[in-house]
Amino acid sequence: MTVVNPILKLKRLQDIDVKGKRVLARVDYNVPMKDGKVTDDTRIRETLKTLEYLLSQDAKVVLVAHLGRPKGKPELKYSLKPVVEVLARLLKRPVAFASDCVGSEADEVVAALKPGAVALLENLRFHAEEEGNDPAFAAALAKHGDVFVQDAFGAIHRAHASTVGVCKHLSGGIGFLVQKELEFLDRVVNNPARPFLAIIGGAKVSDKLGVLDKLLDKVDGLLIGGGMAYTFLAGQNVSIGKSLLEADQVGEAKKIVQKAYAKKVNCLLPADHVVVQSIKPDAQTTVTQSMAIPSDMIGVDIGPHTIEIFIEEIKKAKTIFWNGPMGIFETEAFAKGTLEVAKAMAQATRHGVTTIVGGGDSLAAVAKAGVKAQISHCSTGGGASLELLEGKVLPGLAALAG
Ligand code: AMP
Repeated sequence: MTVVNPILKLKRLQDIDVKGKRVLARVDYNVPMKDGKVTDDTRIRETLKTLEYLLSQDAKVVLVAHLGRPKGKPELKYSLKPVVEVLARLLKRPVAFASDCVGSEADEVVAALKPGAVALLENLRFHAEEEGNDPAFAAALAKHGDVFVQDAFGAIHRAHASTVGVCKHLSGGIGFLVQKELEFLDRVVNNPARPFLAIIGGAKVSDKLGVLDKLLDKVDGLLIGGGMAYTFLAGQNVSIGKSLLEADQVGEAKKIVQKAYAKKVNCLLPADHVVVQSIKPDAQTTVTQSMAIPSDMIGVDIGPHTIEIFIEEIKKAKTIFWNGPMGIFETEAFAKGTLEVAKAMAQATRHGVTTIVGGGDSLAAVAKAGVKAQISHCSTGGGASLELLEGKVLPGLAALAG
């Protein structure tokens, strides 16, 4: 299974006639906010190429997006309204807003759009029907457009009304952001320069076991760090103290290590750890002398010896994919492993290595390390990029391909 096929069958924005039409565009404006203000506009900027093209074609652009996880009903802190000001500034033109994505107000705002004008509709997830992929809700959304453009890479692995349901009513294609993501990841999945190294971290083992299993068919090396590494270590009968453990996943984690061994994939777990007695920012940290963690301690980051080993592996690779932090990097005292991996990735890129970072936390880490611009490709969708690497056909693409 490759990701090439869906791309070939998909129409690109430049293949669709959007001139003067109402274009319903699904975008990813799931941006960080504080006190009703957007604190990082990267995701909004990422959509500008598509929007500027649509506006140059005199389209009437209707934007739909989600923000956060409201529980199927309106919640002020998840309103997309603060995005309007940012988008209007970036596009240098007014952006209309409707306080609901379906219903009479939205219909009126859309009806009032002139060619070359933009409207943003309120958070799709204020309706439970969005995530439920409800047919009537999808039909109500589809009423806003003559054609559909999917440019929310971060959402295309979800089968929701705005990613799958609308495609029953509207034909269309992918926007420039989704195209860029697919082309990059496709090249890496199907024709990676070798050795191909994957670095996987983060907390939830159960979320990532499927990916790890599939990745073992593609990569030459696999580095496992972060909270999930302790479940793997437990599977190797290494004591992990009070560190994060998904006890019901130990058997599966063990199978991954066995598969790696059988496939001759160089799968490395942390060789030492930064540990604390309790997780708090000012906790006294110590470094273990081995893989084992004392019974009263908690692992919060990979240790210095592991950093060295991981950097050596990074130096040997020609293609590197990274998803998930190496420790609780949000806390400065536990961030070193993650930041060092970020810096090593940037250095590898300077030596001609193709580097890809996917996922909010890893992106935040490369930004924090000040090396974001030095990564070959920063994917805007952590889940979507992992599923593409796994070889899955993403629902949002399958629906568009028809
Ligand atoms: P995930 O959503 O599974 O990618 O996990 C990301 C989260 O993993 C981040 O918020 C990290 O703080 C957390 N994390 C990384 N390492 C550890 C660890 N050693 N113990 C607990 N949480 C961790």
